[in-house]
Amino acid sequence: MLIVQKYGGTSLADGQKIQAAARRATRLAQQGREVVLVVSAQGDTTDRLIANALEINPRGAVREMDAYMAAGEQLSAGLMAMAIGALGYPAVSLTGGQAGILTDGVFGNARILGLNNHRIRRELDRGKIVVVAGFQGVNEEGDITTLGRGGSDTTAVALAAFLQAEACQIFTDVDGVYDRDPRRFPGATRFGRLSYEQMLRLIENGAQVLHDRSVEMAREHGILIEVLSSLTGSPGTIVGPLEAV
Ligand code: ADP
Ligand code: ASP
Ligand code: MG
Repeated sequence: MLIVQKYGGTSLADGQKIQAAARRATRLAQQGREVVLVVSAQGDTTDRLIANALEINPRGAVREMDAYMAAGEQLSAGLMAMAIGALGYPAVSLTGGQAGILTDGVFGNARILGLNNHRIRRELDRGKIVVVAGFQGVNEEGDITTLGRGGSDTTAVALAAFLQAEACQIFTDVDGVYDRDPRRFPGATRFGRLSYEQMLRLIENGAQVLHDRSVEMAREHGILIEVLSSLTGSPGTIVGPLEAV
């Protein structure tokens, strides 16, 4: 049985957080699960990379921006694989392209078209935890593309769909999806379950907790998304089909 777990930027902000995520993934693998991790860039790395790039070229060169921005996730993937290795478990980091994620050619907002799953399958069959850099793929030319801000969620759902995972867990810095941003509204109410449609409406109204395309892709492939806290790991919110709500 295969599980995809995605960790967002704040959940990887320092070495201790990376190690905590590595321990959680390793425990799952030791229980006999196949584990694919998707990682975002650490903390506010992507914001800093964008600011650096715009300072050098204010007009923004979209192809080069993507090549540069995607490095944030690649750094996280390398560190995560090293953290798992330090626990004595075999792991391999892959860029989106190495993982076989094929996108269209829209730099900065590319759409995932498919997955060539051979490399991931081979690494899983060798008993490794596979760590995939989120937020990126390659177009048909082999150029690096990025999926739009928040796009690592979509990487996770796409991998869950194309690898037929039993679960897709999105670990973040809040313990689920609320009716309003719980950081701005302390009285916000948490959902236990939520339909794809309800989730998409929340996103339209500004809830950036999930990337919109991740929910669309989950709906298309019937994937249940669980949004939960990387701090506690206690059950969060399930986003799924209407009948499951
Ligand atoms: P990650 O780095 O894990 O991808 P994001 O910053 O993209 O995290 O998403 C998590 C943030 O989404 C939370 O810190 C929270 O402030 C914000 N948020 C906005 N609206 C909501 C909502 N309705 N429910 C939960 N979180 C929300
Ligand atoms: N690091 C990217 C961003 O900040 C992708 C993600 O976090 O999902 O938008
Ligand atoms: Mg996010």
